[in-house]
Amino acid sequence: MFQKILIANRGEIALRVLRACRELGVKTVAVHSEADTEAKYVKLADESVCIGPAPSAQSYLNVPAIISAAEVTDSEAIHPGYGFLSENADFAERVEQSGFVFIGPKPETIRLMGDKVSAKNAMKEAGVPCVPGSDGAMPEDPKAIVALAKQIGYPVIVKAAGGGGGRGMRVVHTEAALLNAVATTQAEAQAAFGNPVVYMEKYLENPRHVEIQIMADEHGNAVYLGERDCSMQRRHQKVIEEAPAPGIDRKLIALIGERCAKACRKIGYRGAGTFEFLYERGEFFFIEMNTRVQVEHPVTEFITGIDIVQTQLRVAAGEKLPIKQRDIQFRGHAIECRINAEDPFKFTPSPGRITSWHTPGGPGVRVDSHVYADYMVPPHYDSMIGKLITFGDTREQAIRRMRIALSEMVVGGIKTNVPLHQALMLDAQFLKGGVSIHYLEERLADINEVKVD
Ligand code: ADP
Repeated sequence: MFQKILIANRGEIALRVLRACRELGVKTVAVHSEADTEAKYVKLADESVCIGPAPSAQSYLNVPAIISAAEVTDSEAIHPGYGFLSENADFAERVEQSGFVFIGPKPETIRLMGDKVSAKNAMKEAGVPCVPGSDGAMPEDPKAIVALAKQIGYPVIVKAAGGGGGRGMRVVHTEAALLNAVATTQAEAQAAFGNPVVYMEKYLENPRHVEIQIMADEHGNAVYLGERDCSMQRRHQKVIEEAPAPGIDRKLIALIGERCAKACRKIGYRGAGTFEFLYERGEFFFIEMNTRVQVEHPVTEFITGIDIVQTQLRVAAGEKLPIKQRDIQFRGHAIECRINAEDPFKFTPSPGRITSWHTPGGPGVRVDSHVYADYMVPPHYDSMIGKLITFGDTREQAIRRMRIALSEMVVGGIKTNVPLHQALMLDAQFLKGGVSIHYLEERLADINEVKVD
């Protein structure tokens, strides 16, 4: 195991990685911007280095500053967390060239899976079912584009190969709108991602978002840790996640999970990763892979009893996966609510000083958060200030515990989306389980209409 690692991230995930390190006896270096000097994980880390001013471009995305911090502290490895540089193949390469271990896949794997066209091709070859569409990039000939859309069947979605964060895609319902949409998406993709390549897929109208967690080592072993349902989204941002996904045949999950694990062995994947799928009418369709730990990893930790972050550290240190597929047991149900510093129904960010902070507890309750009373939520970053996760023998018990936990949660001084979560934990459709990716936005439109009236 490593002696010392550097955590190239902030917020709750920095604290999560720090805790995994402490349990393994690994020393930690926290890097932080000037806005995060007072952060809890900065104080808890064995060492800390300020890497720049508040804006991420000058701190958390500042590659030379992060590498220098690793050098001056004699760190052996860098954990990138999620967001920021976690899926940046050039960063992973720089880390390795500078003599450190990147806690994640090899740079070439990040590159392969970061381009959605090459990722889809690789997954298709490995037998993972994909959304029907263009095999590879969009053809250049306008006639071929029109013919392709006709063959796929409207509506179609035009997506940027280099896209991310829910940007760079456009739904097209008619042939008349097609060529214009392709040209606009290409121009946007070039401007936003520096890559004009786009591709086409069938637009699924009412799917669920179901993803498979995998874990692989560099000795050719890979396992799947079950699925998560992340259909409760707003603007492609996940709000509530749960595991297992309600109402999906366990045999089908095992089949898809096996395929994902097999694909990992085939491409030489290393570390934690997530295969994201759209699920509609009993079928799974791969859309993209995330080559890092995800925000929602705790729900999987609850139902499998496996510490995903520690396992990331172990496989990065060259150890073999400590678990075999047959040893993995899925038990109970877990739900995560992302707690954001924002207006619960208008969604305007609400940074500022937290005057009081009381977190819930009791059986089956986990709070992953870096904040505390008197903490100043900086306006520069993502609005998520923590995650509340509950576990129960059944989905009903996990929900009951979540309602109690939310009612015990007190955050003073800023607005949070706790009231939204409280409303959703009583929502009839959510309680039934298995809503589509559009459900939350439709529900919010209803709530806001009622308020206006
Ligand atoms: P990003 O990397 O920007 O998150 P994804 O490929 O994961 O892009 O797609 C983000 C979201 O866009 C999905 O969760 C889904 O809501 C929607 N989406 C993407 N592809 C399709 C499709 N073929 N049909 C319907 N919705 C889609």
